[in-house]
Parts: sequence; C-alpha cells; structure tokens
Amino acid sequence: MTTETLPSSAQSAALFARARAVTPGGVNSPVRAFKSVGGSPRFIREAHGAYLTDVDGNRLVDYIGSWGPMILGHDHPAVRQAISEALAGGTSFGAPGEREVRLAEAVTRITGAERVRFVNSGTEATMSALRLARGFTGRKFIVKFRGNYHGHADGLLVEAGSGLLTNAEGTLGTSAPSSAGVPGEYAQLTLVSEYNDPAALDALMAERGHEVAAVIFEPVVGNAGVLIPTPEFLAALHRVRERGALLIADEVMTGFRLSLRGATGLLGLTPDLICWGKIIGGGLPVGAYGGRADVMDFVSPQGPVYQAGTLSGNPLAMAAGLATLEVLEGTPEVYTRLESYTSELAAGLKAAAREAGVPLSVNHIGSMLTAFHQEAPDGSIRTYADAARSDTAAFAAWFQSMLGQGIYWAPSQFESIFVSAAHTDTELNATLGAARTAYRSLG
Ligand code: PLP
Repeated sequence: MTTETLPSSAQSAALFARARAVTPGGVNSPVRAFKSVGGSPRFIREAHGAYLTDVDGNRLVDYIGSWGPMILGHDHPAVRQAISEALAGGTSFGAPGEREVRLAEAVTRITGAERVRFVNSGTEATMSALRLARGFTGRKFIVKFRGNYHGHADGLLVEAGSGLLTNAEGTLGTSAPSSAGVPGEYAQLTLVSEYNDPAALDALMAERGHEVAAVIFEPVVGNAGVLIPTPEFLAALHRVRERGALLIADEVMTGFRLSLRGATGLLGLTPDLICWGKIIGGGLPVGAYGGRADVMDFVSPQGPVYQAGTLSGNPLAMAAGLATLEVLEGTPEVYTRLESYTSELAAGLKAAAREAGVPLSVNHIGSMLTAFHQEAPDGSIRTYADAARSDTAAFAAWFQSMLGQGIYWAPSQFESIFVSAAHTDTELNATLGAARTAYRSLG
C-alpha cells in the first residue's frame, strides 16, 4: 500500500518530530510551525500549479504560494526551463554574468527605478536600503509603522508584523524590540508610527523629521493581514520628503503582484527607494533594492556604503526571476484574472460566513486577501489595532477545517493569502465549498 490515498498527516507528524530534534521548533521560518493554529505543519513533497502534495500524499489547494513568490503557480514550465538552462552552465560564479544585467534591465524598465542591486532575500534588501539611506542622508533614525514587517534585521524588529504579530507576547504597542537579542539601543533608532494615521506621521515628522534618514513602509500591508492605505495616508507619506527623509517602499510582498509595477505603480506612489523580494526571484532566493540613481550610486563600489553578497546575482536565481517577469510582462491580462478570482473568493467567503452566522470582515486587493474573523464592515480594518480585534480561536478552527478538506490557507489570522495564475474556477469552487462547511462548523 502506498501513502497516496491516505487522508492522514501521519508522515508529516513523524517528520515534524524528527525536525524538532534537530532544528529549533522543527522549522526554518517560524510561521511554518502552525503555532497559532495548532497541529502538525504539513511537510511538502512537491508542488505543481495551484497544488501542493504533502508527504502523506494529500493534494492541497495552495493559497500561500511560498508566501508570495509563486504568482505563476508552482513549477511553471517557462521558469523550470530557464532554471534548467542556467543549471547546465554552472550554479555560481562569484563574478558578474549576463543574466544579472538582463534582470536589472527588466526591473528598471518595468518599475522606473534607475538602478537596482540584487541581494538574496527581502531582509537583505530592506537592511541594505536603510544603511544606504543613513549613508546618503547622514542621519540615524528611521520611521516604520506598527504591524509592518520588513524582515528580521535588528532595527526592523520593532513593533513588527508577520510571525511576530502571530506570536506577539506583549511587545506590540510598547516600542520595545519584538525579539530577544535586539539591544534596546538599536530599537531606539527606530521610531514607530501608526499605519493609516496621517496626523500621527505628520506630527512625528514635525518633531523628529530633521533626524530621520528614511521612512519605510509596506505600500499595502500583508503582514498584519491585508491593510489597504488611505489616500490621506499616502499623501502624508509623500510629505516626509519635505523634511529631507527618503521614502522607502517595501514591495517585497507587493512588487510585481498587485500590478506589474507593484503597489507603488497601482497607487501612484513615487518612493526614492524600493525593496523587492519573492516574485523577483521566481521561487529562488533573491531580493533587490533600487531607485534614484543619485542615492543608489552611494552603494559600494561606486560609493561609500558597503553591501556585498557571495551568492548575489546567482545565475539560477536570476534565470527564475527573469522568466517570471517575462511571463508577467508578456501576459498582462494575468493581473485581471488574479483580481477577479480574488474578488469572487472574497464575495463567496462573505456569503458563506453570513449564511452560517459567522462574523467576517474581508480586506482584499489584487491577488491578496485576508478574511478577519470579526464583526466590522468590509474594508474598515485599517490598522494593526483593528486587525488585532479578530477572533484567532475561530480562525484556527476554520483553518483546521479547511486544511482537513484539502485547502491550504495561511496558518495565521494576520497573514495575506496569495492567489496564483494557476488557480481556476475548479479551485475556486472547491475552496468555497470547503469554506461553507468550515463556517457552518463554527456557527
Ligand atoms: N518585507 C516584507 C514586506 C515581507 O513580507 C517580507 C517577508 O515576508 C520581508 C520584507 C522579508 O523577506 P525575506 O523573508 O525574504 O527575508
């Protein structure tokens, strides 16, 4: 007998036990451990299109997409072919190659950034962009927003979202570091403001703006669940430059997802620097930061701000990123389909929850969506504090029901899900059918 037909998670549970003996918490990134929803995480054997197959042989409709990179779906033929071709030529050179130039040309052409530097993760991108902003302006302080997540560099682990929000143990709202091991002195260089509160940002900048090197923000938040910025807040963000601070859009999650030109393109924002990750690497480890030439030319070896990477510009990763951007650029209708799938998903979830008497408030934009388990008008959840009012126990029960029915949702109330181009009506109908059952079991 094979494991293919067993609707069980026994093999995942066994692997989780082995993993916990050799890796902290059994995972290499905290949210994967299912800590806030309970149970064993599924260990994945392979992924194709809109589906993951776990080690027990369960086929799951995937709404995580590796937390964003897999906008084309898993194992897309063009991406696979590009990686195979690159592989045949060697895996790493430690010297420049043509693919880096081509991806940089694509990124600058698409986004309007004048220069781009590739790194290996979103964390490296934001960390490097902030060092650059400090080097360029000669100022020390940065501003970030409560519940926004920008990776795990020390100075950014202050009032951070994502896994830190999911597992928050009393530090949110206190301006303390969100992690042990971050000295309070580092955290003090990070000034925190409220997302979607233009008056708070204006007041902070009026008082401290002359000391602020940069304001970094998620142009659409994914890491507190989806939060959509108001036009007034976007206008306040643009005003920070009047104080000599640089505006840094963290598009690690939203870049090439909310539109080909990301959230900044969609919302008409013109930041000084942009950080990318996820989609730009097509499922391989890539991050990037870029923007104004006069700022970027401060980066080493052109300028005095040091930043380097043994595997930066890796040929396989560049190939995967290039192939992904080429498909997206060549088939712009993808974005319309992603948007309509996500809108239908939102409407279907709302209807199913209403029928079952379960309070639900849905925020969605493009192919990102969070269904918050709380009574609030749709779209009215705008801050971390709003999101935090959600019923996480109800979410956990709903999540487990969905997983048991073969739908792999993000295992936290405070994350976005990601729809891919491989999701079709078949997956939509399966998802909504499962959701009706899951909400009924809560109602
Ligand atoms: N910035 C944002 C907006 C993110 O969502 C993430 C990761 O989820 C990061 C930065 C960090 O990226 P990475 O996990 O590649 O270091």
